[in-house]
Amino acid sequence: MKKYFLATNDVESTSIKFNKQRDITAEKVLKEGTPLLLDLYNKSEIKATFFFTGEIAEKYPEVVRMILPCGHEVACHGYSHEDEFAFDKMGYHDQVIHLRQAKTILEDISGTKVISFRAPALRVNEFTPKALEAAGFEIDSSIAPQRADSFLSFGALKKLNRLFSPRLPYYTSANNLAVKGDSSIFEIPISAFILPYIGTFMRINPALTKQLMILLDKESAFTGKPVNFLIHPNECITEDDEDTVARRSANIIKYLLAEKLRTRMKLNNLGKAAIDLYEEHLLYFKNKDYTFCTLKQYKNEYNK
Ligand SMILES: [Zn+2]
Repeated sequence: MKKYFLATNDVESTSIKFNKQRDITAEKVLKEGTPLLLDLYNKSEIKATFFFTGEIAEKYPEVVRMILPCGHEVACHGYSHEDEFAFDKMGYHDQVIHLRQAKTILEDISGTKVISFRAPALRVNEFTPKALEAAGFEIDSSIAPQRADSFLSFGALKKLNRLFSPRLPYYTSANNLAVKGDSSIFEIPISAFILPYIGTFMRINPALTKQLMILLDKESAFTGKPVNFLIHPNECITEDDEDTVARRSANIIKYLLAEKLRTRMKLNNLGKAAIDLYEEHLLYFKNKDYTFCTLKQYKNEYNK
């Protein structure tokens, strides 16, 4: 059975260290994080997918242009990554407006048709499939099936149905991206098995993520499920200590127990260390004869 590895990259200005959107972070994503990932993909002859927020593309169009010569796919990560514009907070009309706005910006800069979407913080709701259709999208990659740690993240309860969502790619229902149905939106799930197969987890616990990698390879050989890894260029940068780590929760106990620990863990292996860890994963799949392609290419193969 042919095996696929989908390298997916969420490009945004979120500072992991300072827990907010920052222009300084966006500049580092442009000058450090994205070039490091592009070098790695070039070296390994890998085609990848880059999801950009409309905001970062508008302010730093060069970050979109720089991926084009390598044949990577330009995809959409919403317009804004701010909490107030999370897709699970917006109604149908606002979602369509945000999607169209971001799509237009990305298509104008890249001169390519943008059809793939990943929601900021993977937050979606019952309006998202129809909003995606209305805005001209064909592919979604916001669902991480059987990912148990979702319950510690934003919109946890709304992510409950993802515990039971299909593992193999599927066409979604018209009002739920996490279940099969007859919409025109093709879901390519992010790899997870209790734990998510993403850069954050790879940096927090490299050893356990390697076990997950081996497990996902076995599953892929058995079922044909593509491996879909999520990383951010903002994980591949280093930021200076010009500020204390932002305190987000008003509740001091919650802050001490959860956020401080969570933030400290999230700072592990940032910068070049993240690239080195990622390279080991890519080599593992390279040696196992995986095809590395974009989401658009994968969908074409699927429908052959
Ligand atoms: Zn994001």
